[in-house]
Amino acid sequence: MLHFQGTFVDISPSGTLRIHDQSSLVCDAQGKITWIGDTAEAKKRFPNATLHTFQEGSFVLPGFVDCHIHFPQNRIIGAVESDLLHWLDHHVWPEERKYKDEAFSKMMAQEFVHNLLSNGTTAALVFGSQFSSATDHLFEEGLRQQMALVTGLTLQDRHTHPELEYTAREIRPHIESMISKWHQKERLRYVVTSRFSPACSPSLLKMMGEIIKQDSSLYFQTHINESHAEIEWVKQLFPECEDYLASYEQFDLLTSRSVFAHSIHTTEHELKRMGQHQCSVAHCPSSNAFLGSGSFSFKKHKEHDVQIAMGSDVAAGVSFSLWREMGHAHLIQMRLPEEERTFLDATQMLSSVTIDGAKALRLDHEIGNFESGKWADFIVFHPSKGRYLSKRFDECKDNSGHIDPKYIQKLLFQSALSYEDDMISHTFVKGKPVFQRECD
Ligand SMILES: [Zn+2]
Repeated sequence: MLHFQGTFVDISPSGTLRIHDQSSLVCDAQGKITWIGDTAEAKKRFPNATLHTFQEGSFVLPGFVDCHIHFPQNRIIGAVESDLLHWLDHHVWPEERKYKDEAFSKMMAQEFVHNLLSNGTTAALVFGSQFSSATDHLFEEGLRQQMALVTGLTLQDRHTHPELEYTAREIRPHIESMISKWHQKERLRYVVTSRFSPACSPSLLKMMGEIIKQDSSLYFQTHINESHAEIEWVKQLFPECEDYLASYEQFDLLTSRSVFAHSIHTTEHELKRMGQHQCSVAHCPSSNAFLGSGSFSFKKHKEHDVQIAMGSDVAAGVSFSLWREMGHAHLIQMRLPEEERTFLDATQMLSSVTIDGAKALRLDHEIGNFESGKWADFIVFHPSKGRYLSKRFDECKDNSGHIDPKYIQKLLFQSALSYEDDMISHTFVKGKPVFQRECD
Protein backbone atom coordinates (compact mmCIF):
# COMPACT_ATOMS: atom_id res chain seq x y z
CA MET A 1 0.00 0.00 0.00
CA LEU A 2 1.06 3.59 -0.61
CA HIS A 3 0.52 6.48 1.78
CA PHE A 4 0.76 10.01 0.30
CA GLN A 5 0.94 12.96 2.64
CA GLY A 6 0.25 16.54 1.53
CA THR A 7 -2.53 19.05 0.88
CA PHE A 8 -5.21 17.61 -1.42
CA VAL A 9 -7.56 19.92 -3.32
CA ASP A 10 -10.48 18.67 -5.40
CA ILE A 11 -14.17 19.20 -6.18
CA SER A 12 -16.61 17.50 -3.81
CA PRO A 13 -19.63 15.53 -5.09
CA SER A 14 -21.79 18.58 -4.36
CA GLY A 15 -19.56 20.74 -6.59
CA THR A 16 -17.69 22.76 -3.95
CA LEU A 17 -13.94 23.28 -3.66
CA ARG A 18 -12.66 20.80 -1.07
CA ILE A 19 -9.33 21.17 0.76
CA HIS A 20 -7.77 18.35 2.77
CA ASP A 21 -5.10 20.46 4.46
CA GLN A 22 -1.98 18.45 5.46
CA SER A 23 -3.81 15.15 5.10
CA SER A 24 -3.23 11.68 3.76
CA LEU A 25 -4.35 9.62 0.80
CA VAL A 26 -3.81 5.87 0.88
CA CYS A 27 -4.06 3.62 -2.15
CA ASP A 28 -3.89 -0.15 -2.53
CA ALA A 29 -1.53 -2.21 -4.67
CA GLN A 30 -3.89 -1.90 -7.68
CA GLY A 31 -3.74 1.90 -7.47
CA LYS A 32 -7.23 2.56 -6.07
CA ILE A 33 -7.85 5.07 -3.30
CA THR A 34 -8.79 3.25 -0.13
CA TRP A 35 -8.78 6.17 2.29
CA ILE A 36 -8.38 9.96 2.48
CA GLY A 37 -8.28 12.07 5.63
CA ASP A 38 -6.34 12.73 8.84
CA THR A 39 -2.66 11.69 8.76
CA ALA A 40 -2.44 10.35 12.34
CA GLU A 41 -5.45 8.16 11.66
CA ALA A 42 -3.96 6.98 8.36
CA LYS A 43 -0.73 5.96 10.10
CA LYS A 44 -2.74 4.03 12.68
CA ARG A 45 -4.89 2.25 10.11
CA PHE A 46 -2.17 1.57 7.55
CA PRO A 47 1.06 1.25 9.55
CA ASN A 48 2.87 -0.73 6.84
CA ALA A 49 2.01 1.55 3.90
CA THR A 50 5.03 3.14 2.17
CA LEU A 51 5.03 6.84 3.05
CA HIS A 52 5.58 9.54 0.44
CA THR A 53 5.44 13.18 1.59
CA PHE A 54 4.92 16.12 -0.77
CA GLN A 55 6.65 19.33 0.23
CA GLU A 56 4.87 22.26 1.83
CA GLY A 57 3.69 24.82 -0.68
CA SER A 58 2.47 22.14 -3.07
CA PHE A 59 -1.08 20.93 -3.67
CA VAL A 60 -2.17 17.55 -4.91
CA LEU A 61 -4.94 17.83 -7.51
CA PRO A 62 -6.86 15.10 -9.35
CA GLY A 63 -5.38 14.18 -12.74
CA PHE A 64 -6.83 16.31 -15.53
CA VAL A 65 -9.28 15.01 -18.15
CA ASP A 66 -8.81 16.34 -21.70
CA CYS A 67 -12.03 15.76 -23.66
CA HIS A 68 -10.83 16.85 -27.09
CA ILE A 69 -7.39 16.44 -28.66
CA HIS A 70 -5.89 15.08 -31.90
CA PHE A 71 -3.04 12.55 -31.77
CA PRO A 72 -1.71 13.09 -35.32
CA GLN A 73 -1.43 16.84 -34.79
CA ASN A 74 1.15 16.40 -32.03
CA ARG A 75 3.74 18.51 -33.84
CA ILE A 76 1.79 21.28 -35.58
CA ILE A 77 0.83 23.53 -32.67
CA GLY A 78 0.91 27.16 -33.77
CA ALA A 79 0.83 26.49 -37.55
CA VAL A 80 -0.98 29.68 -38.33
CA GLU A 81 -3.88 30.09 -40.79
CA SER A 82 -6.80 32.44 -41.31
CA ASP A 83 -9.62 30.02 -40.45
CA LEU A 84 -10.61 26.42 -39.84
CA LEU A 85 -11.09 25.18 -43.42
CA HIS A 86 -7.82 26.68 -44.74
CA TRP A 87 -5.97 25.36 -41.66
CA LEU A 88 -7.22 21.81 -42.40
CA ASP A 89 -6.09 22.01 -46.05
CA HIS A 90 -2.70 23.61 -45.50
CA HIS A 91 -1.51 22.03 -42.24
CA VAL A 92 -3.65 19.17 -40.96
CA TRP A 93 -3.97 16.87 -43.99
CA PRO A 94 -0.22 17.03 -44.86
CA GLU A 95 0.76 16.29 -41.24
CA GLU A 96 -1.77 13.50 -40.65
CA ARG A 97 -0.55 11.67 -43.79
CA LYS A 98 2.85 11.22 -42.13
CA TYR A 99 1.32 8.79 -39.60
CA LYS A 100 1.19 6.08 -42.27
CA ASP A 101 4.86 5.53 -41.48
CA GLU A 102 4.92 3.03 -38.61
CA ALA A 103 8.28 4.03 -37.11
CA PHE A 104 7.24 7.70 -37.08
CA SER A 105 3.80 7.05 -35.60
CA LYS A 106 5.26 4.84 -32.86
CA MET A 107 7.65 7.62 -31.88
CA MET A 108 4.78 10.14 -32.00
CA ALA A 109 2.58 7.95 -29.76
CA GLN A 110 5.25 8.00 -27.07
CA GLU A 111 5.81 11.73 -27.46
CA PHE A 112 2.05 12.48 -27.44
CA VAL A 113 1.36 10.48 -24.26
CA HIS A 114 4.39 12.07 -22.60
CA ASN A 115 3.02 15.50 -23.55
CA LEU A 116 -0.30 14.63 -21.89
CA LEU A 117 1.23 13.25 -18.70
CA SER A 118 3.78 16.03 -18.28
CA ASN A 119 0.91 18.52 -18.42
CA GLY A 120 -1.04 16.66 -15.74
CA THR A 121 -3.53 14.98 -18.09
CA THR A 122 -4.18 11.40 -16.97
CA ALA A 123 -7.39 10.75 -18.93
CA ALA A 124 -8.15 11.82 -22.49
CA LEU A 125 -10.64 11.52 -25.31
CA VAL A 126 -8.44 11.50 -28.40
CA PHE A 127 -8.96 11.63 -32.18
CA GLY A 128 -6.69 8.81 -33.35
CA SER A 129 -5.02 8.51 -36.72
CA GLN A 130 -6.77 7.38 -39.92
CA PHE A 131 -4.18 4.57 -40.03
CA SER A 132 -4.80 1.46 -37.91
CA SER A 133 -1.11 0.91 -37.18
CA ALA A 134 -0.72 4.45 -35.79
CA THR A 135 -3.86 4.21 -33.63
CA ASP A 136 -2.65 0.81 -32.36
CA HIS A 137 0.60 2.48 -31.27
CA LEU A 138 -1.40 5.05 -29.34
CA PHE A 139 -3.45 2.36 -27.55
CA GLU A 140 -0.22 0.45 -26.77
CA GLU A 141 1.36 3.54 -25.21
CA GLY A 142 -1.79 4.35 -23.21
CA LEU A 143 -1.78 0.78 -21.91
CA ARG A 144 1.91 0.97 -21.01
CA GLN A 145 1.28 4.09 -18.95
CA GLN A 146 -1.97 2.65 -17.52
CA MET A 147 -3.88 5.87 -18.22
CA ALA A 148 -7.58 6.25 -19.06
CA LEU A 149 -7.37 6.64 -22.83
CA VAL A 150 -10.44 6.77 -25.08
CA THR A 151 -9.49 6.81 -28.73
CA GLY A 152 -10.30 5.36 -32.14
CA LEU A 153 -9.68 5.69 -35.87
CA THR A 154 -10.56 9.11 -37.28
CA LEU A 155 -13.04 8.41 -40.08
CA GLN A 156 -13.46 10.49 -43.24
CA ASP A 157 -14.22 9.56 -46.83
CA ARG A 158 -14.49 12.86 -48.73
CA HIS A 159 -13.18 16.44 -49.07
CA THR A 160 -9.88 15.78 -47.28
CA HIS A 161 -6.95 13.96 -48.95
CA PRO A 162 -7.28 10.63 -50.78
CA GLU A 163 -4.59 9.01 -48.60
CA LEU A 164 -6.64 9.77 -45.48
CA GLU A 165 -10.00 8.59 -46.81
CA TYR A 166 -11.56 5.14 -46.42
CA THR A 167 -15.04 4.04 -47.44
CA ALA A 168 -17.39 2.44 -44.91
CA ARG A 169 -16.84 -0.96 -46.54
CA GLU A 170 -13.01 -0.64 -46.40
CA ILE A 171 -12.74 0.61 -42.82
CA ARG A 172 -15.46 -1.34 -40.98
CA PRO A 173 -13.41 -4.57 -40.46
CA HIS A 174 -10.53 -2.49 -39.06
CA ILE A 175 -12.85 -0.74 -36.59
CA GLU A 176 -14.40 -4.02 -35.47
CA SER A 177 -11.06 -5.71 -34.92
CA MET A 178 -9.76 -2.66 -33.05
CA ILE A 179 -12.83 -2.68 -30.77
CA SER A 180 -12.34 -6.35 -29.93
CA LYS A 181 -8.61 -5.78 -29.35
CA TRP A 182 -8.73 -2.62 -27.25
CA HIS A 183 -12.19 -1.63 -25.97
CA GLN A 184 -12.36 -2.10 -22.18
CA LYS A 185 -8.86 -3.56 -22.03
CA GLU A 186 -7.80 -2.25 -18.62
CA ARG A 187 -8.44 1.53 -18.81
CA LEU A 188 -8.66 1.82 -22.60
CA ARG A 189 -11.94 2.52 -24.40
CA TYR A 190 -12.89 2.79 -28.10
CA VAL A 191 -14.58 5.87 -29.54
CA VAL A 192 -16.21 5.86 -32.98
CA THR A 193 -14.82 9.09 -34.46
CA SER A 194 -16.21 11.18 -37.27
CA ARG A 195 -13.85 13.97 -38.39
CA PHE A 196 -16.94 16.13 -38.98
CA SER A 197 -19.97 15.63 -41.20
CA PRO A 198 -18.58 17.59 -44.21
CA ALA A 199 -15.81 14.96 -44.43
CA CYS A 200 -18.13 11.97 -43.93
CA SER A 201 -20.61 10.70 -46.52
CA PRO A 202 -24.04 9.53 -45.38
CA SER A 203 -22.97 5.90 -45.88
CA LEU A 204 -19.96 6.35 -43.57
CA LEU A 205 -22.07 8.09 -40.88
CA LYS A 206 -24.69 5.35 -41.20
CA MET A 207 -22.03 2.69 -40.57
CA MET A 208 -20.90 4.57 -37.43
CA GLY A 209 -24.47 4.55 -36.10
CA GLU A 210 -24.76 0.81 -36.75
CA ILE A 211 -21.55 0.06 -34.84
CA ILE A 212 -22.60 2.16 -31.83
CA LYS A 213 -26.00 0.45 -31.72
CA GLN A 214 -24.31 -2.93 -31.31
CA ASP A 215 -22.60 -1.92 -28.05
CA SER A 216 -23.89 0.85 -25.78
CA SER A 217 -20.52 1.10 -23.99
CA LEU A 218 -18.88 2.57 -27.12
CA TYR A 219 -18.35 6.32 -27.43
CA PHE A 220 -18.92 8.72 -30.32
CA GLN A 221 -17.00 11.95 -30.94
CA THR A 222 -16.91 14.61 -33.60
CA HIS A 223 -16.89 18.39 -34.18
CA ILE A 224 -19.91 20.67 -34.42
CA ASN A 225 -20.74 24.33 -35.12
CA GLU A 226 -17.16 25.58 -34.99
CA SER A 227 -17.16 28.17 -37.78
CA HIS A 228 -19.77 29.92 -39.95
CA ALA A 229 -18.18 28.71 -43.22
CA GLU A 230 -18.31 25.11 -41.94
CA ILE A 231 -21.99 25.45 -41.01
CA GLU A 232 -22.82 26.79 -44.48
CA TRP A 233 -20.98 23.84 -46.02
CA VAL A 234 -23.01 21.36 -43.93
CA LYS A 235 -26.21 23.04 -45.20
CA GLN A 236 -25.13 22.42 -48.81
CA LEU A 237 -24.03 18.83 -48.19
CA PHE A 238 -27.06 17.81 -46.11
CA PRO A 239 -29.95 19.83 -47.61
CA GLU A 240 -32.46 17.44 -46.01
CA CYS A 241 -31.22 18.34 -42.49
CA GLU A 242 -32.75 21.18 -40.49
CA ASP A 243 -29.38 22.00 -38.88
CA TYR A 244 -25.83 20.74 -38.32
CA LEU A 245 -26.77 18.46 -35.42
CA ALA A 246 -29.34 16.68 -37.61
CA SER A 247 -26.52 15.48 -39.91
CA TYR A 248 -25.45 13.22 -36.98
CA GLU A 249 -28.85 12.76 -35.41
CA GLN A 250 -30.33 11.10 -38.52
CA PHE A 251 -27.80 8.26 -38.08
CA ASP A 252 -28.46 7.76 -34.34
CA LEU A 253 -25.15 9.30 -33.28
CA LEU A 254 -26.58 11.27 -30.34
CA THR A 255 -26.08 9.22 -27.18
CA SER A 256 -25.06 9.78 -23.56
CA ARG A 257 -21.54 8.80 -24.69
CA SER A 258 -21.37 11.34 -27.54
CA VAL A 259 -18.95 14.25 -27.12
CA PHE A 260 -19.17 17.18 -29.55
CA ALA A 261 -16.21 19.54 -29.77
CA HIS A 262 -16.63 23.34 -29.95
CA SER A 263 -20.41 23.89 -30.19
CA ILE A 264 -19.90 27.64 -30.55
CA HIS A 265 -22.73 28.58 -32.90
CA THR A 266 -25.17 25.91 -31.75
CA THR A 267 -28.83 26.97 -31.87
CA GLU A 268 -31.37 26.68 -29.04
CA HIS A 269 -33.14 23.93 -30.97
CA GLU A 270 -29.90 21.93 -31.29
CA LEU A 271 -29.02 22.47 -27.62
CA LYS A 272 -32.42 21.21 -26.57
CA ARG A 273 -31.89 17.94 -28.47
CA MET A 274 -28.33 17.55 -27.20
CA GLY A 275 -29.66 17.89 -23.66
CA GLN A 276 -32.46 15.40 -24.27
CA HIS A 277 -29.95 12.82 -25.55
CA GLN A 278 -27.56 13.58 -22.63
CA CYS A 279 -24.72 14.47 -25.02
CA SER A 280 -21.64 16.33 -23.79
CA VAL A 281 -19.61 19.12 -25.35
CA ALA A 282 -15.89 19.83 -25.17
CA HIS A 283 -15.10 23.52 -24.90
CA CYS A 284 -11.70 24.32 -26.46
CA PRO A 285 -11.00 27.98 -25.68
CA SER A 286 -7.48 28.51 -27.02
CA SER A 287 -8.35 26.74 -30.28
CA ASN A 288 -11.44 28.94 -30.72
CA ALA A 289 -9.31 32.05 -30.24
CA PHE A 290 -6.49 30.75 -32.48
CA LEU A 291 -8.82 30.10 -35.45
CA GLY A 292 -11.06 33.08 -34.73
CA SER A 293 -14.03 30.71 -34.53
CA GLY A 294 -16.07 32.57 -31.90
CA SER A 295 -16.94 32.51 -28.19
CA PHE A 296 -18.51 29.52 -26.43
CA SER A 297 -21.54 30.08 -24.21
CA PHE A 298 -21.49 28.21 -20.87
CA LYS A 299 -24.84 29.79 -20.09
CA LYS A 300 -26.77 28.38 -23.05
CA HIS A 301 -25.38 24.86 -22.63
CA LYS A 302 -26.17 24.85 -18.91
CA GLU A 303 -29.74 26.03 -19.57
CA HIS A 304 -30.25 22.84 -21.58
CA ASP A 305 -28.35 20.54 -19.17
CA VAL A 306 -25.62 19.77 -21.67
CA GLN A 307 -22.53 18.51 -19.83
CA ILE A 308 -19.55 20.81 -20.50
CA ALA A 309 -15.98 19.50 -20.35
CA MET A 310 -12.69 21.06 -21.45
CA GLY A 311 -10.44 20.14 -24.37
CA SER A 312 -6.99 21.35 -25.38
CA ASP A 313 -7.75 20.63 -29.07
CA VAL A 314 -4.10 20.28 -29.98
CA ALA A 315 -3.10 21.40 -32.57
CA ALA A 316 -5.52 24.31 -33.10
CA GLY A 317 -5.26 24.62 -29.32
CA VAL A 318 -1.96 26.22 -28.44
CA SER A 319 -0.67 23.75 -25.84
CA PHE A 320 -1.33 20.44 -24.09
CA SER A 321 -1.91 22.29 -20.82
CA LEU A 322 -5.43 22.30 -19.40
CA TRP A 323 -4.16 24.88 -16.90
CA ARG A 324 -3.69 27.23 -19.83
CA GLU A 325 -7.12 26.29 -21.18
CA MET A 326 -8.68 27.31 -17.84
CA GLY A 327 -7.08 30.73 -18.22
CA HIS A 328 -8.15 31.02 -21.88
CA ALA A 329 -11.70 30.04 -20.91
CA HIS A 330 -11.88 33.12 -18.69
CA LEU A 331 -10.51 35.37 -21.45
CA ILE A 332 -13.07 34.02 -23.93
CA GLN A 333 -15.97 34.65 -21.50
CA MET A 334 -14.86 38.25 -20.98
CA ARG A 335 -15.16 38.85 -24.75
CA LEU A 336 -18.88 38.02 -24.67
CA PRO A 337 -21.47 40.75 -24.04
CA GLU A 338 -22.09 41.04 -20.29
CA GLU A 339 -25.54 39.41 -20.39
CA GLU A 340 -24.14 36.29 -22.14
CA ARG A 341 -21.00 36.00 -20.03
CA THR A 342 -20.27 33.40 -17.33
CA PHE A 343 -17.78 34.58 -14.77
CA LEU A 344 -15.79 31.40 -14.09
CA ASP A 345 -14.40 31.10 -10.58
CA ALA A 346 -11.58 28.73 -9.60
CA THR A 347 -14.06 26.05 -8.50
CA GLN A 348 -15.72 26.01 -11.93
CA MET A 349 -12.35 26.05 -13.66
CA LEU A 350 -10.96 23.12 -11.67
CA SER A 351 -14.25 21.28 -12.00
CA SER A 352 -14.20 21.65 -15.81
CA VAL A 353 -10.84 19.87 -16.14
CA THR A 354 -11.46 17.15 -13.53
CA ILE A 355 -14.90 15.92 -12.46
CA ASP A 356 -16.80 17.49 -15.39
CA GLY A 357 -14.49 15.75 -17.87
CA ALA A 358 -14.97 12.49 -15.96
CA LYS A 359 -18.76 12.94 -16.21
CA ALA A 360 -18.59 13.62 -19.95
CA LEU A 361 -16.69 10.33 -20.36
CA ARG A 362 -19.07 8.53 -17.97
CA LEU A 363 -16.02 7.69 -15.87
CA ASP A 364 -16.93 9.73 -12.79
CA HIS A 365 -17.22 6.52 -10.75
CA GLU A 366 -13.50 5.94 -11.46
CA ILE A 367 -11.81 9.35 -11.71
CA GLY A 368 -12.35 13.12 -11.29
CA ASN A 369 -11.83 13.63 -7.54
CA PHE A 370 -10.42 11.99 -4.42
CA GLU A 371 -13.01 9.46 -3.32
CA SER A 372 -12.49 5.92 -2.02
CA GLY A 373 -12.67 3.37 -4.81
CA LYS A 374 -11.44 5.75 -7.54
CA TRP A 375 -8.06 5.47 -9.24
CA ALA A 376 -5.22 7.35 -7.54
CA ASP A 377 -4.49 9.60 -10.56
CA PHE A 378 -3.13 12.95 -9.44
CA ILE A 379 -0.70 15.78 -10.06
CA VAL A 380 1.56 17.65 -7.68
CA PHE A 381 1.18 21.35 -8.24
CA HIS A 382 3.51 24.12 -6.98
CA PRO A 383 2.03 27.60 -7.53
CA SER A 384 5.06 29.12 -5.82
CA LYS A 385 7.25 27.97 -8.74
CA GLY A 386 5.54 30.50 -10.97
CA ARG A 387 7.48 33.75 -11.11
CA TYR A 388 4.39 35.88 -10.37
CA LEU A 389 3.09 33.73 -7.52
CA SER A 390 6.30 32.83 -5.70
CA LYS A 391 5.39 34.71 -2.53
CA ARG A 392 1.66 34.11 -2.55
CA PHE A 393 1.49 30.73 -0.81
CA ASP A 394 2.11 32.18 2.68
CA GLU A 395 -0.94 34.39 2.24
CA CYS A 396 -3.09 31.27 1.93
CA LYS A 397 -2.75 30.56 5.65
CA ASP A 398 -4.81 31.97 8.48
CA ASN A 399 -3.36 32.89 11.91
CA SER A 400 -3.38 29.27 13.06
CA GLY A 401 -1.37 28.18 10.00
CA HIS A 402 -4.29 26.51 8.23
CA ILE A 403 -5.12 27.09 4.61
CA ASP A 404 -7.90 29.61 4.04
CA PRO A 405 -10.24 28.39 1.21
CA LYS A 406 -10.79 31.98 0.01
CA TYR A 407 -7.11 32.34 -0.77
CA ILE A 408 -6.91 28.96 -2.44
CA GLN A 409 -9.67 30.12 -4.79
CA LYS A 410 -7.64 33.24 -5.55
CA LEU A 411 -4.38 31.35 -5.96
CA LEU A 412 -5.88 28.74 -8.30
CA PHE A 413 -7.44 31.44 -10.45
CA GLN A 414 -4.15 33.34 -10.64
CA SER A 415 -2.34 30.08 -11.44
CA ALA A 416 -4.63 29.49 -14.42
CA LEU A 417 -3.93 32.95 -15.81
CA SER A 418 -0.18 32.91 -15.22
CA TYR A 419 0.57 29.19 -15.59
CA GLU A 420 4.14 28.06 -16.17
CA ASP A 421 5.29 24.48 -16.84
CA ASP A 422 7.45 24.27 -13.71
CA MET A 423 4.32 24.43 -11.56
CA ILE A 424 3.64 20.70 -12.13
CA SER A 425 6.42 18.64 -10.57
CA HIS A 426 4.91 15.14 -10.74
CA THR A 427 2.08 13.21 -12.33
CA PHE A 428 0.87 9.92 -10.84
CA VAL A 429 -1.32 7.30 -12.48
CA LYS A 430 -2.77 4.54 -10.28
CA GLY A 431 -0.46 5.73 -7.49
CA LYS A 432 2.69 5.34 -9.62
CA PRO A 433 4.83 8.22 -10.88
CA VAL A 434 4.59 8.56 -14.67
CA PHE A 435 6.20 11.99 -14.89
CA GLN A 436 8.69 13.85 -12.74
CA ARG A 437 10.11 17.21 -13.74
CA GLU A 438 13.88 17.00 -14.05
CA CYS A 439 14.71 20.01 -11.92
CA ASP A 440 13.15 18.34 -8.81
ZN1 LIG B 1 -10.65 19.18 -32.99
